[in-house]
Amino acid sequence: MLFSEIKGQEEAVRKLRSAIDNNKLPHALLITGPEATGGLALAHAAAQYIICQHRHDGEPCGQCPECKQVAKLGHPDLHWVYPIVNKSTGSGKEASVSEDFLSVWREAFLANPYITQPEWTKSIASDENKQLKIFVSEAAAIVRTLSTKPYESDYRILILWLPERMNEDAANKLLKIIEEPYEKTFFLLVSHDPEKIIGTILSRVQRLQLAPFDLKGNFVQPGLQMPDEEDRTFFFEKFCAMMRLSYARKLYDMKAWSEEMAALGRERQKNYLQYAQVLIRENYIMNLHDPELNYMNEEETAFSSKFSRFVNARNVEGIMKVLETAELDITQNVNAKMVFFDLSLKFIMLLKAGNQA
Ligand SMILES: [Zn+2]
Repeated sequence: MLFSEIKGQEEAVRKLRSAIDNNKLPHALLITGPEATGGLALAHAAAQYIICQHRHDGEPCGQCPECKQVAKLGHPDLHWVYPIVNKSTGSGKEASVSEDFLSVWREAFLANPYITQPEWTKSIASDENKQLKIFVSEAAAIVRTLSTKPYESDYRILILWLPERMNEDAANKLLKIIEEPYEKTFFLLVSHDPEKIIGTILSRVQRLQLAPFDLKGNFVQPGLQMPDEEDRTFFFEKFCAMMRLSYARKLYDMKAWSEEMAALGRERQKNYLQYAQVLIRENYIMNLHDPELNYMNEEETAFSSKFSRFVNARNVEGIMKVLETAELDITQNVNAKMVFFDLSLKFIMLLKAGNQA
């Protein structure tokens, strides 16, 4: 992950990058912010920046073998701890540790670096209300991991998601590790509820506060409005059709759809493209499970309850960009049939990218 891929956290990125550049990164840093504001993504980008052998212009190069391993969550000097369910049963057996769930974690995080607690719970527990924990056995596993030498890079990094899910025993054991730091080892803790972290830990870490996520500011130009009721219903149908056809790759029908769109006046074409941007934003927000930010009507909400999983951190920017470009093309009198057909073609790839989530 590159720093530039993290939206709306310019200040936190600047501070973190500067600490790394100046060798002032504390050995234990607590990144705090609400869910889905990018704490995990930021920790991942920082790890890549630290481990990369060819960083330049304030970013990891993205090309070296280290960068590629970090990007795939396969670098031997980058370790992950996250809350889990205990699958180990029977007396005398140690509780499960994060390592036991690494392949699931890899898949879940890579699909969505803005993963939330409910989403992660769904990935590993049959009961989505299950309370995940970081067990005391995790501390021993961390000691084992960090007692060996770094494999490939000069540094080792441990990203620990949700320190608030440690019980007191686990926290006290971890505290010892944080108090007597291993050489060239960084702990990046990511918390959404720092008040629940045990005080002794809180007092030993430096904090980096994320900005609350301003989705409207980040993804939609100011001034985009919902069209009037009649157009809204009409545009909604067109939008659903476009998503379905692009998803199913029905080129012939996509062409017919483009011709219908081309038959509308320029002004309505522009209004449609603006409406599409609003709906995409709404779907992205829905995907973040923040219903309070939602402005959709009943039909749109029903459609989006299924569609929103296709709109996520992997593709939302790309989608907004192609819609904006199409709007601009229409304004500049580019052939509308081509603009809309091209748009539906681009959605084939964009929906595919989002569907991996
Ligand atoms: Zn690199």
